[in-house]
Amino acid sequence: MTARMIDGKALAAALRGKVAEEVQRLSRSHGLVPGLAVVLVGHNPASEVYVGSKAKMTALSGMRSFDHRLPESAGESDLLSLISRLNGDPAVHGILVQLPLPPQIDPQKVIAAIDPGKDVDGFNPMNAGRLATGLPALVPCTPVGCVILAKSVHPILAGLAAVVIGRSNIVGKPLAQLLVAESATVTVAHSKTRDLPAVCHRADLLFAAVGRPQLVRGDWIKPGATVIDVGINRIDVGGKTRIVGDVAFDEASLVAGAITPVPGGVGPMTIACLLVNTLRAACAIAGLPAPAL
Ligand code: NAD
Repeated sequence: MTARMIDGKALAAALRGKVAEEVQRLSRSHGLVPGLAVVLVGHNPASEVYVGSKAKMTALSGMRSFDHRLPESAGESDLLSLISRLNGDPAVHGILVQLPLPPQIDPQKVIAAIDPGKDVDGFNPMNAGRLATGLPALVPCTPVGCVILAKSVHPILAGLAAVVIGRSNIVGKPLAQLLVAESATVTVAHSKTRDLPAVCHRADLLFAAVGRPQLVRGDWIKPGATVIDVGINRIDVGGKTRIVGDVAFDEASLVAGAITPVPGGVGPMTIACLLVNTLRAACAIAGLPAPAL
């Protein structure tokens, strides 16, 4: 079998197009232009790439993009006072602090300082709690993107066996919450899981969010399953850097029914979902109904 490729780039472009239309409508009928502030501390090369693409996509969708850079040596109080200013800035509807942060800054303190209504990453404990209890929330972008990708194959996830490998606050845990909300039967696997291949083999939907290059082999996958690969791993191949996922793509695509490529799968959806969150946050702050996307 050769798996159907799930085209994250195309799905993300379609979603960004809907966001751009909605941004135009908001601006025409309410004079509201959503604004996203992205904060980068230091010079992590991968973070610089992510922040650059986020700013570019924000501007292309018609929103305002505010770029804030702090030096690697910035103290926690410098970042907290910037966040406090952004929390109070009426032109800013979304605040994203790019992780990881340098060691002198506690990411939990920073995340907790972001106004939950502007927390477009959805990492603030208020939003995490709202998601867990089924209340409307700003939900982390990567897990939302994963669910959209899975639904492009199975419009209804109810009753499907889903396995999420990884239990981080950023991907694994919120993804499991979203899948439970979709009435999938969810197993969360992690570094202490026994017999991971057998656990994966039960999955109709397999999500890998581990950060281990090509950990998931072809024979771990149930024939016909849908595989969503969140991993972004840089490996050296003959002196050149290549980006691979957490799934051994060549093997997996011979067994799976549908699979996301890396790059070009989850990554583009993450940014598109960030724009959706910024739009949602702007509408909520302005007291307008949530956009229909
Ligand atoms: P993390 O390091 O916070 O969490 C990794 C999880 O994997 C942990 O819960 C750990 O228990 C589990 N794990 C580690 N080794 C394991 C093993 N051998 N077997 C089973 N489980 C194991 O990572 P994260 O922030 O959740 O990110 C995971 C991956 O997703 C990374 O490659 C990251 O770069 C990528 N990522 C991609 C996007 C995107 O937009 N595409 C966004 C966020 C993260």
